[in-house]
Formats: sequence, C-alpha cells, structure tokens
Amino acid sequence: MTTDQTSPETKQSFQAEVGRLLHLMVHSVYTDKEIFLRELISNASDACDKLRYESIANSALLGPDERLAITIRPEEATGSLVISDNGIGMDKDELTGNLGTIARSGTRAFLDKIKDAQANDGKGAALIGQFGVGFYSAFMVASEIEVISRKAGASEAFVWRSNGESGFTVTPATPEQTQSLARGTQIRLKLKDDCKQFLEDDTIERIVRTYSDHILFPVDLVPTEGETRQINTAGALWQRPKSEVTPEQYKEVYQTVSGSYDAPRLTIHYKAEGRQAYAVLLFIPERKPFDLYDPARKGRVKLYVRRVFITDDAGLLPSYLRFVRGVVDSEDVPLNISREMLQNNPLVSQIRKALTTRVLTELEGYAGKAAEGYEALWDAFGAVIKEGLYEDFERRDQLLSLARFHSSTTSGWRSIAQYAEAMRENQTEIYYLTGDSLERLNASPQLEAARARGVEVLLMTDPIDAFWVAAGADYKGKPFKSLTQGDVDLSLVPLVDEASPPAEQNQDDAASLAEKFKQALGADVSDVRVSKRLVTSAVCLVAPGGGPDLGLDKLLARQDRSFGTKPVLEINANHPLISALTKRGPAGEDDVADLARLLFDQAKILDGETLPDAAKFAETMNKLMLRGL
Ligand code: ADP
Ligand code: MG
Repeated sequence: MTTDQTSPETKQSFQAEVGRLLHLMVHSVYTDKEIFLRELISNASDACDKLRYESIANSALLGPDERLAITIRPEEATGSLVISDNGIGMDKDELTGNLGTIARSGTRAFLDKIKDAQANDGKGAALIGQFGVGFYSAFMVASEIEVISRKAGASEAFVWRSNGESGFTVTPATPEQTQSLARGTQIRLKLKDDCKQFLEDDTIERIVRTYSDHILFPVDLVPTEGETRQINTAGALWQRPKSEVTPEQYKEVYQTVSGSYDAPRLTIHYKAEGRQAYAVLLFIPERKPFDLYDPARKGRVKLYVRRVFITDDAGLLPSYLRFVRGVVDSEDVPLNISREMLQNNPLVSQIRKALTTRVLTELEGYAGKAAEGYEALWDAFGAVIKEGLYEDFERRDQLLSLARFHSSTTSGWRSIAQYAEAMRENQTEIYYLTGDSLERLNASPQLEAARARGVEVLLMTDPIDAFWVAAGADYKGKPFKSLTQGDVDLSLVPLVDEASPPAEQNQDDAASLAEKFKQALGADVSDVRVSKRLVTSAVCLVAPGGGPDLGLDKLLARQDRSFGTKPVLEINANHPLISALTKRGPAGEDDVADLARLLFDQAKILDGETLPDAAKFAETMNKLMLRGL
C-alpha cells in the first residue's frame, strides 16, 4: 500500500456551478427532501450495473461477493444514515471528478432554469423536485457527508468529505475503513437536526417502496432493532404480465429509467416472441427531456441482456424518436458483445426495426382514441418526429399521417387527411408557408389568393419544416407546394365570394410597369411580374421556381448555405396604388427607381426581414411624402 497517512488534508474547492448548486441544497426550503434517497439508490444501482457488466469480461472482479446489493443503515447513536453498495466503486480521481463537478444534463438544465429566479425562493425550490439533482441533493438533509469508496479490484480505498459549503477533501482511508469495505461505496450522511425522521425504519421503507421498488438490485434495511430485511421488490417489472402492473408502478419505473419526475403520457409494454425473444417497456414522457435538442440527437432506451444492463447507447430507436424512454431486455443478444459492436449486430437491427414500427403504431392508436392527449404529445415532440419525414423515407407516409399542422383556416391542429378532405374544387396541390411565427404567416400577402378562394394553407414554423417539404413530399399523389415559390395559379379554383370578382385591370399596362421596376431594381431581384396571388396587398416577394422557397433559403442563409438566388417581386395589378402608377403619364427615371425601391423594401418588411439600409428607406419615403404635401 502506498497510502500516505501523514499527508495533510488539502481542501479542494468545488467547480463554480457545483458551489452554486450546493448553496441551494444546503439552504433548501424544498419540502419533499426525501427524493435524496432515490438519487443515492439510483447511483448505487448504476454502480452495481457497471460492475456486473465489467464482470462479464473479467469475472475476478466479482470475487466471492456475488450478491450485488444496496444497504441502508440508520445509526441512531451518531444521527447518521449510511447507504452502501458493493458495486464498481470509485478511485481517488473519480471521487474528485464525479463529486466535484457537474456532468449530468438535467442538473445543468436545472441551474439554467433557476439562474434568473431568486436563489432560494419557493420557485427555485419546486424545481429541485422536477429535475432531480443527483448526488448533491443529499445536502438537503445532511450537514456533512463522508463517502468511502473502493474501486473493484483495488487494494486501497479513499474518503471524500464535505460539509457542502467550503469545498471537499479526498484522503486515503484508514486501515479499518479499508478493511470494512471490500468493494464499492459507502455514503454516510450526518443528518441535519430537522431531518432526523430519515432514521426511522418505517420512513425509509416507505420512501424506498415509493421511488425505488423496481431497482433491479435488492435494497436491504439494517434496522435499529431486528434483522436485516430486503425492503424492495427488486424485480424486472418489464418481465411481468401487463395485467399485474399498476399505473403507479409504471410511473415509478419510468422515473427511474428516465431520471425525470414527470409521468409517462403513454406506456408501451409487451413481450416479443418468435425469431427473437425480448421484453419491451417504453414510455413517452409528458414533458420534453432536457437533452431533446442536443446536437448528438441520441436516444436513451436501455438495452438489457437477460436482466443485465448493457448500455443506453445502442440506438434502439431512430433519432426522431429520441424522446422515448425505457428498456428492452433481450434473451438472444450475446452477453459478451462489446458495446461498439452492438450498432451493427443483426439481432439489434431487427429489434430496432420492430420497435420503430411498434412505437409508430402505438402513436396512431393513441391519436385515434385520445385526440387531445395526442395533440399535447405532438406539441411537445412533433418537431422531433418531423425529422423522420426528412430522414426515414420508408415510413414517410405513416409519419405524415401522424403529423399535425396549423393552418390558415382553423385555429386548432389539422391532420393531413383533414386537409385533403377540405381541398377545394380543382385544387391539385397542398399549399404551405414556412416561417418563424404563426402570426406573421397568417398575415402574409402570399396568402391572399388562397383566402379569396377558400383554399386552406398549412402554416409551418418549425425549422425542420422547410427541409422536409422541400424534399419532394406528397400525400396520396398530391404534391406540397410553397406559396412563396415559383408560379402559383389558383385561378381554376372558384372564388368564395363570386359576387365580387377582382376588377380586371389592364394587364398589359401593369406588365410594362413591372418591366420598368425590374430595370430599376437591377440585380437585386431575379424578376418583377404581375401577381396571380395578391388580392389586397400591393406587392410581395416570392422565390423563383426551381430553387428553395423563401422560408428555406432564409434558414440556409443563417448557416451561410443560402442558394443566393434573388427573389421575385410580384405586383398586384388590382391594387389602387399600382393601377394609379400604370395610368400615370411618363415620369422621370428617378421617380420610378424610388417607387420601385420603396415597394421592394415594403415587401421585405412584410416578410419579417430587416432592411439592409433603413436610413435610405426613410430618406426616400420622406422625399415622396414631401412631394405629396
Ligand atoms: P448521475 O448519476 O446523473 O451521473 P450524480 O450526481 O447522481 O449524477 O452522480 C455523479 C457521479 O458520481 C455518477 O455519474 C457516478 O460516476 C458517481 N457516483 C455517484 N454515486 C456512486 C456510487 N455509489 N458508486 C459509484 N459511483 C458513484
Ligand atoms: Mg445519479
């Protein structure tokens, strides 16, 4: 042993974020403090999972101590609660790294959320329960924490100690401590005076049954009096028949596997038998998981092989279903397969395919029988599911039928089937607009012709929308068509209000005005033409045919990938301003240039763009106003 018992304890300080979190925990007014036990048991269970996995390749790690378990021991005399496990353990560096920094995204999200809120007001406190803040939550109930840990296979143990306020120390364990801990981690919480209820056997048992009943490993209670007894069920709940599982149990397992505190909106539980046997227990959360928009787009469905946890990174569902949480427990995947090989394993590919089909079928079923619940689900995860319209060509039709849209004719959600049913006489295309906000889209001049003819337009505001619609999507042979691209001609669709057809202006005059505008605007536009889509507005911008529509090009421009195509300016021959301009006698070049510029800028403003030269716009407008006075 190389332990240097004489070295002075050097105090290390916590990473700044941890310090902030700890301050909150130490001074917490949060009432449901008992969740700390769930967090510690969950860590102990993870440690047992890790050891069991490692021991597949190296059975010596387990040694004679084969029964992996978690032990809770109240210590009346010292007012301490001791939670230990014989899992993987931590070495010196791991103690420092894992219990001195913040790695989990949930904790980070928690800190971001409360950044603005007063440090310890009621609102911040309530968030503790929603997020679950891991190991550090123990400082809600403990004034001092000592963690003794001995890594599996190591001869030495180390002790981490902290009062949660002034940093922590890591020192070598005493020979007695090392002796008493053959492997794993022992956490000793010196309970605060107002938290002594956590020493009571009944309280401990109730908390464990509520939050941790289905941890796979036994949780043993060493009571103040009487014999040690196991206080959880410790069964793989997904192996049980559906009829024997209560909603509360599902919720508990959901919270355990997802590390969240909301409830599952949808639970999918079945056993596959046939070519392969595996049990499936999947959940669709109520709320968005914190890592939903992580660039890695990783799913978190856990793969077990015959009750042994292997990884939560096996890619068991496509990225566009990454919000689904849960467990797949296979009977056939080889136990000793390396994690890296899993992605390419044919058995895993088969599971992936079947699982995807099943989830989509369940979503369809849910949409059919609980429209409101499904809309809430879509509200939370629709933007992610739509990535599948772009990536999963094989399932596009199915995904399209699952999609819900906003539209120009209703305030609620619309399915594509409902849209198709409401299509107007002679309408052959599905019209859409993409952009940032519903409000702005609803006010687009490009919508006018569609409105006049009662044609419904889908209004899409998720960034992914511009991409999948442009990738050649169609519904039952009807193509999607952007209202801001190329020619849109709705003239074959009858007007809603036949009594007031738009006055037919002299198209030739308007066309020659368009030509003058085009010369004035030069390279800034690819064309100026007389519009078939405008009814009340004077002008609008559209993209020329062939390239991306305006919404998509704007998104691409943000990533410096714009096609660089110039827009087409459309003018409304029936608008009083345009018709007055066409009727006017010859005017100076300057005059036409000013008018063209102003109308072009106006069209940009209507599209929500900021003008590159606002001062010039103001100057030209003032010049023209002055002339009118
Ligand atoms: P999380 O469990 O989400 O990673 P925690 O704050 O709960 O976050 O724990 C931080 C880390 O500390 C864990 O990831 C793990 O590496 C380590 N850890 C905590 N408790 C134990 C334990 N009982 N045995 C081994 N490692 C542990
Ligand atoms: Mg944890």
